[in-house]
Amino acid sequence: MASDNNSVKTPDKANHKITVTSPLLPDLEEFNALLKEIWASRWITNNGSFHQRLEKELCEYLKVPFISLFTNGTLPLITSLQALRITGEVITTPYSFVATTHSLWWNGIKPVFVDIDPATGNIDPDRIEAAITPMTTAIMPVHVYGQPCDMAKIQDIADKYGLKVIYDAAHAFGVEVNGESVLNAGDVATLSFHATKVYNTIEGGALVMHDEKTKRRIDHLKNFGFVSETEVVAPGINSKMDEIRAAYGILNLRQVDEAIASRRRVADRYREALGDTEGVTFFRDIPGVRHNYSYFPIFIDAGIYGMTRDELYSKLKEHNVLGRRYFYPLISDFTTYRGLPSAAPSNLPNARKMADSVICLPMHATLGEEDVEKVVSLIRR
Ligand SMILES: *Cc1c(COP(=O)(O)O)cnc(C)c1O
Repeated sequence: MASDNNSVKTPDKANHKITVTSPLLPDLEEFNALLKEIWASRWITNNGSFHQRLEKELCEYLKVPFISLFTNGTLPLITSLQALRITGEVITTPYSFVATTHSLWWNGIKPVFVDIDPATGNIDPDRIEAAITPMTTAIMPVHVYGQPCDMAKIQDIADKYGLKVIYDAAHAFGVEVNGESVLNAGDVATLSFHATKVYNTIEGGALVMHDEKTKRRIDHLKNFGFVSETEVVAPGINSKMDEIRAAYGILNLRQVDEAIASRRRVADRYREALGDTEGVTFFRDIPGVRHNYSYFPIFIDAGIYGMTRDELYSKLKEHNVLGRRYFYPLISDFTTYRGLPSAAPSNLPNARKMADSVICLPMHATLGEEDVEKVVSLIRR
């Protein structure tokens, strides 16, 4: 439904930059109409009608029982750790966006990094048990690039050791396995609706939970801990989504399926065009999984490809193709975390290899065919 009033003219074709992402924007006139409603109501935040509507519509779209909207995708991570009273050590992946580990640090929790499975990019469940100590209270996996984690195996380990599971599902909007949302796995799952994600509310996020009691507690925590006008039950935070972004989100939800279908066409073309390029590998669709095509990472084997990842990255950049090295460096390499025992390079060989070989190619719903052809012709040898 990207109508004409959304199309931005390319200012200068020669200098046209092909960016890794581009936000899904609602129709401006439709958005204006909702803004008028909001202005008329003079209710702009604090659980207004658009906020309530978006929560309801997201529950239906995502096939989840309860959801709580947030002002970004980092605060549901931080807040859920508070809500579940997670302390001590949490087992997590170094191959993610920094917010995953930062949320632990903000709660005074020690992150324990476990290596990834190179077949998926996700935490390797077979390495989790060895990282458990008497201080371990939870596991925080990430469905990286929207690739589903081995949720059954992770739950088995959590049950065996009495651990909570908090999924950072920032990349997994709409991802399903055999018709079941990945957001229903674990104790809670978080989403990011940042402008760069498959579905956005400009800035925004959400927490998915399985029961009404947790939903209530989270709703209190994201509103300073208020349960009534005069009663505060916890040191909560302010992370409420406003009416304007909720209205924007309602409109974007209507076109997200179409956006995912467009992304799929880009992924199909990349796979078709790069399938025989030696030294370049990528993930394939997994049978039974509804993918969201949130990213299109390729992995460069410099010895075979004849060029290092960084050389290809620079070459693309010189030609105005702005791929991104998600996720490089590893979170465990940042100064805050690199002193941790689990950050030792010998502990994370698969994650390091992936971080050193990855480039995420341009991937968004409005990526033109010409642009896709330009990207592949630069990579093909
Ligand atoms: C984007 C992202 C976040 C943070 O979301 P924000 O909405 O930017 O705060 C958290 N985890 C992962 C894996 C992400 O990609």
